[in-house]
Amino acid sequence: MNSDLKRMELQYLQGVGPKRAELLARELDLHTFHDLLHYYPFRYIDRSTIHKVNEVNGEMPFIQLKGRFITFTTVGEGARKRLQALFTDGSGTIECVWFNRVKSIRESLKTGVEYLIFGKPAQFGHHYSIAHPEVDVYKPETAPQGLMGVYNLTDKLRNRQISSRILQKLVKNLLNTTAVQHIPDTLPASIVATRRLMPLNEALVNIHLPGSIRDLQRAQLRLKYEELFYLELNILRYIKGSNDKRVGFVFSRVGDYFHNFYNHVLEFPLTDAQKRVIREIRQDMGSGIQMNRLLQGDVGSGKTIVAFMVMLLAIDNGYQACIMAPTEILATQHYETISKMAGKIGLNVALLTGSTRKKERDSIHERLMSGELNIIVGTHALLEDPVQFRNLGLAVIDEQHRFGVAQRAKLWKKNTTPPHVLVMTATPIPRTLAMTVYGDLDVSVIDQLPPGRKPVTTLMRYAKDREKVYHFVGSEVRKGRQVYIVYPLIEENEKLDLLALEEGYEIVKETFPSYKVTYVHGKMKPAEKDHQMELFASGQSQILVATTVIEVGVNVPNASVMIIENAERFGLSQLHQLRGRVGRGADQSYCILMTKYELSRDTRHRLEVMTSTNDGFVVAEEDMKLRGPGDMEGTQQSGVAFNLKISNLAKDGQILQMARDDAEAVLRHDPSLSSPEGQMMDRHIHELFNKQLNWSEIS
Ligand code: ADP
Ligand code: MG
Repeated sequence: MNSDLKRMELQYLQGVGPKRAELLARELDLHTFHDLLHYYPFRYIDRSTIHKVNEVNGEMPFIQLKGRFITFTTVGEGARKRLQALFTDGSGTIECVWFNRVKSIRESLKTGVEYLIFGKPAQFGHHYSIAHPEVDVYKPETAPQGLMGVYNLTDKLRNRQISSRILQKLVKNLLNTTAVQHIPDTLPASIVATRRLMPLNEALVNIHLPGSIRDLQRAQLRLKYEELFYLELNILRYIKGSNDKRVGFVFSRVGDYFHNFYNHVLEFPLTDAQKRVIREIRQDMGSGIQMNRLLQGDVGSGKTIVAFMVMLLAIDNGYQACIMAPTEILATQHYETISKMAGKIGLNVALLTGSTRKKERDSIHERLMSGELNIIVGTHALLEDPVQFRNLGLAVIDEQHRFGVAQRAKLWKKNTTPPHVLVMTATPIPRTLAMTVYGDLDVSVIDQLPPGRKPVTTLMRYAKDREKVYHFVGSEVRKGRQVYIVYPLIEENEKLDLLALEEGYEIVKETFPSYKVTYVHGKMKPAEKDHQMELFASGQSQILVATTVIEVGVNVPNASVMIIENAERFGLSQLHQLRGRVGRGADQSYCILMTKYELSRDTRHRLEVMTSTNDGFVVAEEDMKLRGPGDMEGTQQSGVAFNLKISNLAKDGQILQMARDDAEAVLRHDPSLSSPEGQMMDRHIHELFNKQLNWSEIS
């Protein structure tokens, strides 16, 4: 059993012993046979290729060379002592260097003997050097061939002679133990057969010691599939379990408020995407099961109107609705938009935030209880205990990644039956990730912008172009437009960042003496911040110099230029959010990414994603590829421990889909996992997830 391997301590594995066991435990968190068995190589090297010295360049990964040592030189004294050896294969020479065990290595190597050396070349000035290469006397019949796994190791391990190759030897010993050879498969036989997956024991052998590329690929597929299958089975089982309990209000009517608004007040036709999403939400809210739906839509795609119209459905059915925003500014903007629309059809709306005065607050509490208020717009203040409703039927949460899961749960308690919940976000999350991170959240997508919007033009400019950029700013402002200039502000670097922001502000003021320039950052008092924002929003100021406080939700359609300073320091999704602040009106808008001249390849690539597409989903996919899903916004709060060992949600979407389909089928036939195979899966789920996550707290 797998669980037996979890009890077998590594020190008892042949070749390990107490000292190495302690090292492996401390450095790699490997304690048992099971841990080592599932410590997969992070990449593979083709050892059948032998390179020539004159082909070597600094970009190469680990390579293999065949030749002889010409000279050995010991340099330095004591702890600084190192051994340098010159190696040649006739095409050129390369240096090998050792910093440890200098004496014994020197004694073991000879000139005139043909060796295979293996390591990663690094460039120093004009020459190349390989530190601590693996060295073997070359014998054609025993030369390593095919693929070799490379394990992630620490410097400490390497210093104590635990190289990738040693680890591989230990793994070989492990694979030879009977416990591992008789490891039972952890997937149902029927799935292994229909999906033509490699059996578990074969996959484990091939992930560590691949016989061929094809075997390696099959092993990877099998292990990825398994990982994702259990992830999905676990999520789906929770959803299934909770659906039974999750009774929701039935909103069966589309009534007067909705029709009245749609036919007489709404000033523009809805996009097809908006219509589709409203339909999806209506269906959910009519089903008798409590809705938990995520509404994704790029900035400017028109989520607010959708939220408002589904609130009307709640009201038509005799309920109240609330909408909660992460900041006071956003809440106020929503309040203005919503109260204007609601007023026209005779509905009562109020705004409740942290700065609402006590008297007004008390009055709001009363009017919510009496049912006089149909809609309440607010910030976190809505979650507080004194806020009680007569009959809350729908809660909308805007920009969800600013809200934690626990806060969402508080909303549920605002009525005896939990209200329907609609979560809106402009940070698009790739579908595969959403399926998994949000597990029980259904997802609706507005994938279309209202007509007439001109796509934002995004450009990259270096510091030396600043004069031209400011010239352009001037010409836009003269046309009556407004401009954002955004500076990065991160906590670790706060002092310097604030300084840069202030300096920037001064320079902008000097450059544009005849315009009003406002200035906002998160460290300001809220009242001051709101005042400055208001100056910009109302058009009294033309240029807003700010940190990312303006990232979310702010709506100033007249703003047509977004300049992002030190753009290289922002993540993709943040850049995309910022860009979304412009392009909200009918004018051509611009987003200018200011960077330093020297950029790493990754950074350049990231910025080029921005200049090449306006599609938030493409940006999100790229972001996930670059950063990995663990760093994506939203995953932290979601509670999903992203400790996937081998699969990558960004790249393995197809496998994930397959695994999800199969997990669904399993639960259809055996909902309680009580068949013998079901019990096996149930036990496995417990082993995998017991300590990690509790889905019942997420929703
Ligand atoms: P977001 O999805 O970023 O929250 P908003 O709801 O703020 O977007 O909408 C952005 C702007 O687009 C608003 O001024 C809104 O009135 C307008 N809008 C929304 N839907 C449409 C539509 N179908 N046609 C034209 N304008 C629309
Ligand atoms: Mg919005």
